[in-house]
Amino acid sequence: MGEGPASSPRLAIVLVGDELISGRRRDTNGAWLAEQLFARGVELTGIHVVGDGIAAIAGAVRAAAGQAELVVVGGGLGPTPDDRTREGLARAAGVPLAHDEEAHAAITATLATRGRTPTEASVRQALVPEGGRWLPNPVGIAPGLALGVDGARVFAFPGVPREWRALCEAHVLAPLTAGAAAHVSTVWVAGIPEGEIMERIGDLPALRVVELASYPHDGEIELRFRATGDERVARAEAAREAVVARLGPAAFDPPPGGRIEHVVVGALVARGLRLATAESITGGLIARMLTAVPGASAVFPVGWVVYETAQKSAQLGVDAGLIAEHGVVSETVAVAMAEAALARADADLALATTGTAGPDPLLQAGHAPVPPGRVHVALARRGGAPRTLTLTLPLERTLVQRHAAVRALDLVRRLLAEGAQPASGG
Ligand code: ATP
Ligand code: MG
Repeated sequence: MGEGPASSPRLAIVLVGDELISGRRRDTNGAWLAEQLFARGVELTGIHVVGDGIAAIAGAVRAAAGQAELVVVGGGLGPTPDDRTREGLARAAGVPLAHDEEAHAAITATLATRGRTPTEASVRQALVPEGGRWLPNPVGIAPGLALGVDGARVFAFPGVPREWRALCEAHVLAPLTAGAAAHVSTVWVAGIPEGEIMERIGDLPALRVVELASYPHDGEIELRFRATGDERVARAEAAREAVVARLGPAAFDPPPGGRIEHVVVGALVARGLRLATAESITGGLIARMLTAVPGASAVFPVGWVVYETAQKSAQLGVDAGLIAEHGVVSETVAVAMAEAALARADADLALATTGTAGPDPLLQAGHAPVPPGRVHVALARRGGAPRTLTLTLPLERTLVQRHAAVRALDLVRRLLAEGAQPASGG
């Protein structure tokens, strides 16, 4: 693998859709591809966004082809008359559209697997600009297209985000990765504020030979180490490993595209443990996060949302006298909720949250006001003392809930990480 100067082509993106230029839909396809290109050190000359008109599409594709060697077009390949990317590409290349029997057969076959028969409209999707070729779509119906325009290679993929990503991966990113000019490695952090992370890792020599960027995601922070030039893979990985060693249990590695809930469910599965929840301030968000992960049913038997104070007693049997004595937003009540959930559930662990999301402080007779953003988390387990966490989150209401849920899951993640094998490479 010779290094040498970066030889990857420049790339331009053209996004097509009236919904994109009227503000009805926010672009995620262009942003996603741009991020992938940045990670590989590929130069992106621009992201052009146009409506569904043939002239606008042709104009944008020609302009993009004038700036870049590779142009990737997204959207407007559907079967309906308002999908005109095929016509726009043909006009940009100055060629007619021709019916492609093979593409038609592929569309018919895909429709058949879904119990559908081809319509007149689906025949449109078998039109290919002369001199171009169609590209099979592994996750949808509309084929992609490849053709030349003014010496640039042009690809067009469906706008459905899942299809866009699959075709970009196969036809653009995989070939580019081989000759990529940059390497990016990542690690995620929870439980340390962003500013403090930088203080704790800023002096690491391994960071001097990479670009470090941090991206906060509502309570989780993603750190990226990007290296270009000689030995970029080794330098990016070394930076990552140095940071993991420094941050210890705060650092973790979600699976690709995953977040802390994926790590927690994965660790529960790996250890053969089950987790129940009893949520107040988070209002079911923890249950929602866990159940978004495939396979959660094996490790998440039940979650209670006991929002009203009286329901903590009625549903879980938490002693009302204890709540009156300590106040509903207290560590004692969080622990009592977690232990009550553990007693009622077929589970090894139980996680509970209580707090006040704001905007106003919580006033209870006989207790000091509880400031908005105060959260208590408790994790009860069989055969061990409960773990607790107290947070004061100076955030807007829904963010208090989101951060509280992440930090609660982080308590579980850290407990499970203790007994596990250390993560490879860290
Ligand atoms: P289809 O076969 O679904 O018609 P298509 O190629 O015609 O595919 P579009 O109709 O343009 O694609 O878009 C399909 C879906 O993807 C729509 O819901 C659209 O809003 C969405 N979409 C298109 N472009 C983008 C984008 N840049 N970012 C996010 N969503 C997008
Ligand atoms: Mg469209």
